[in-house]
Amino acid sequence: MRVYFDNAATTPIHPEVIEYMTTLMSSVYGNPSSIHQSGRQAKTIVEEARKTVAKLLNSSIGEIFFTSSATESNNMLLRKAVSDLEIINIITSPTEHPCVLNTLKDIQKEDLRIQFLKVDGSGNINVKELEEKLKAVEGKTLVSLMHVNNELGTIHDIKAISNLCYEYSAYFHCDAVQAIGKIPINLQEMHIHFLSGSAHKFHGPKGIGFMYINNDVKLTPFITGGGQEREFRSGTENVHGMAGLAKALEIYHVDHDEKINHITNLRNTFKARLKTEIPDVRFVEEEYAGHYLPHILSVSFPENAKTELITFNLDISGISASAGSACASGVEHASHVLEAIGFPEDRRAVRFSFSYFNTMEEIDYSIEQLKKMF
Ligand code: PLP
Repeated sequence: MRVYFDNAATTPIHPEVIEYMTTLMSSVYGNPSSIHQSGRQAKTIVEEARKTVAKLLNSSIGEIFFTSSATESNNMLLRKAVSDLEIINIITSPTEHPCVLNTLKDIQKEDLRIQFLKVDGSGNINVKELEEKLKAVEGKTLVSLMHVNNELGTIHDIKAISNLCYEYSAYFHCDAVQAIGKIPINLQEMHIHFLSGSAHKFHGPKGIGFMYINNDVKLTPFITGGGQEREFRSGTENVHGMAGLAKALEIYHVDHDEKINHITNLRNTFKARLKTEIPDVRFVEEEYAGHYLPHILSVSFPENAKTELITFNLDISGISASAGSACASGVEHASHVLEAIGFPEDRRAVRFSFSYFNTMEEIDYSIEQLKKMF
C-alpha cells in the first residue's frame, strides 16, 4: 500500500480536472492573443477560468491575474508594492513561507524597514502587537501575513488583520495558499489589497497560480512584452493550466462541508490513535492552543535512533509525509517555523497532511506501520 499524507506540499490532480484539461489540450490550441476563431476559443477558456476564480472568491474579474505559482505571485506582489507604492515599512512574521521571507531579504534596502511580529508557541501573532506597530510607523506600510501556516495549519484571523490595516491605512498582502479551497474567502468583505493562491494545493495542476490585486491599487507591469494579463504579466497564457486551476477550485466548493468533515475525521482519528497506540507521541498543537485547519497535523516524536530518520523510515513503509516544508533540493533541514515557535530541539516533528482523497484504511495502515517502528 502507498499512502500519501503530504497534501500540504502538493495534492494529486482531481480526475475530473485531468479529463477537462486533456480534452482542452486536444481541442483548444489557439493563442489567446490571436483574433481568429482558434485564438478567440482559447481566450474564452482563459476568461471563463478568471471568471470562476473571481466568483468563488467574490472579487471582480479584473482583479484576478494568473501566474506560474504562488511563489511568483508573492514575489511580484511584494516587489511591485515596494517599488510602485512608496512602501517604506513592512510588517510580517517569522513563520511566513520562504518565498515571502527570501523575497523580503532580497528587497531589503536602507530605506525599507522590515519588522517581524512575535509568534506564540502555536504560530499565532498577537493582533495587539500589530496594532502597536501600525500606530508607531511613519510612512507607507505593507503588512504581509499568511492566512494558514503550511507547517502547522495555524489560522491567522485575516479579517481582524485586514480591519486593522484599513484603520491605519496600511496595505495588506496575504499568502492564502494553504487556505484556498478549504476556508471560504470573501474578498468583498475584507480589506485585502493582495492575495496569492496555487492550483496544486487544491487538486489542480502544478505550474499555475494566481494573485488578486484590489482594483484600487495600481501597479506597473512586472513582466513586459505582449501585454497579457492586462499588461501586468506578459507571456502567452498557460491556457490549460488556468482552466485546470478554475475547475479544481470549483470542485472543492462542491459538497465543501462534507470534504472538510471527512478530512477532519481522518485527522482526529489519526491523532486519537497515535495518542493511545504510540508511546511518547505529542502534538505540536497540544502544547500550545491555537486555531488550526484540519488538513495538517504536526506530530512530535522524541529524538532517538528510530526517529532520527523518521520520514525516511515512513517512506520505506509506504507513507509519504514530511519533516518540514518541501524544498527544491529535497533535503530536509531545520524548520524556521518550528524554530520560531520555540519547538523543543530534542524532539522531531513530522507533518502529516491530508486531503479529501485520503481514506480511513490509509489511517489504519499508517498506524500499523508506525506501531512497528515504535
Ligand atoms: N506559500 C505557502 C504558504 C505555501 O505552502 C507554498 C507552497 O508550499 C507556497 C507559498 C509556494 O507555492 P508554489 O508551490 O505555488 O510556488
